[in-house]
Amino acid sequence: MRAVRWHGRGDVRLDEIPVPEPAVGQVLLRVEAAAICGTDVDEVRWGPVTVPLEPHPVSGRAAPITLGHEIVGSVAHQGPGSQLPVGTRVAPWPSRPCGHCRDCATGHANRCPSMVSLGMSVDGGMADFVAVDEADCVTVDPGLPMERAVLVEPGAVVLHALHRADVRGRRIAVVGIGSVGLLMIEAARRAGAATVVAVARSERSRAAARAAGADEVQRPDAAARVDAELVFETAGAAPAVAAALAATRRGGRVIVLGGHVRPLPLELLDLTVREVALEGSVSHCFEDFVAAARAIAAGDLAATPREVELAPLEAGPDLLRAEASGVKRILVPGRS
Ligand SMILES: [Zn+2]
Ligand SMILES: [Zn+2]
Repeated sequence: MRAVRWHGRGDVRLDEIPVPEPAVGQVLLRVEAAAICGTDVDEVRWGPVTVPLEPHPVSGRAAPITLGHEIVGSVAHQGPGSQLPVGTRVAPWPSRPCGHCRDCATGHANRCPSMVSLGMSVDGGMADFVAVDEADCVTVDPGLPMERAVLVEPGAVVLHALHRADVRGRRIAVVGIGSVGLLMIEAARRAGAATVVAVARSERSRAAARAAGADEVQRPDAAARVDAELVFETAGAAPAVAAALAATRRGGRVIVLGGHVRPLPLELLDLTVREVALEGSVSHCFEDFVAAARAIAAGDLAATPREVELAPLEAGPDLLRAEASGVKRILVPGRS
């Protein structure tokens, strides 16, 4: 089968590899779509960030590894002991936490230090097939458009961040309007935020933010006018952090969702003087993933139309090497 595999920094290839054999409790999915995430682009440009060069302590896997953690597919073959019927359309939760460390035991499996992640430390979905744990599969209605079904994973990222902070009745800002930023606007609205301000560089992104339900839009260089109590940074770029801090009012809070793979300078004195809290939110727990699938199915999330680019698997390496365009790029193995 074909697989888009990370071999090294700047080195991502379309390889021909054997179809994986599902292990006990696993199913083999025929991949319908695998979206390209900013973390995949970072992995290619700056990596290794999460792809192991030496055998991963849990998965035993090392590069080359098939990328792709935002996946929708259907069961093609059952592994030993699996009950999930062939043909079932699912989104697989891409995380395999250890289940017994302090974080796992206290409901924070998303930050498990022994995590195995699909498309990072074990082969992911940018391929014709992917083997996943049956227990991690969340069923997806056959009628749900692929462009929305593939957003369950980023939707879960957003819902997890929203669990960390009560947005009800508050003035919030979302900095960085990519796929996660748009989902954040929708989810914050649903969660009862009083006002949602979107901060984005391009006019196109600001228009997309308005369409997703943002009450106000602002350019990053005018972020100081935003005056939000709570700011979500979703861009993963240094200027976005500066804009997020500028957009935060005194005593406010910034939650960083973006993957900042490079160190960056911070005006800590500004944080101290204004008593601004800066914290992170990573990935999701299984409950977040289930909730995202449900919200998307119900039309509460990923409901507003957005620009996407559908491409065949063959286009994967070039798209992964290209600069992010702000448009969600989705690899569709069935396309040629
Ligand atoms: Zn992602
Ligand atoms: Zn754990």
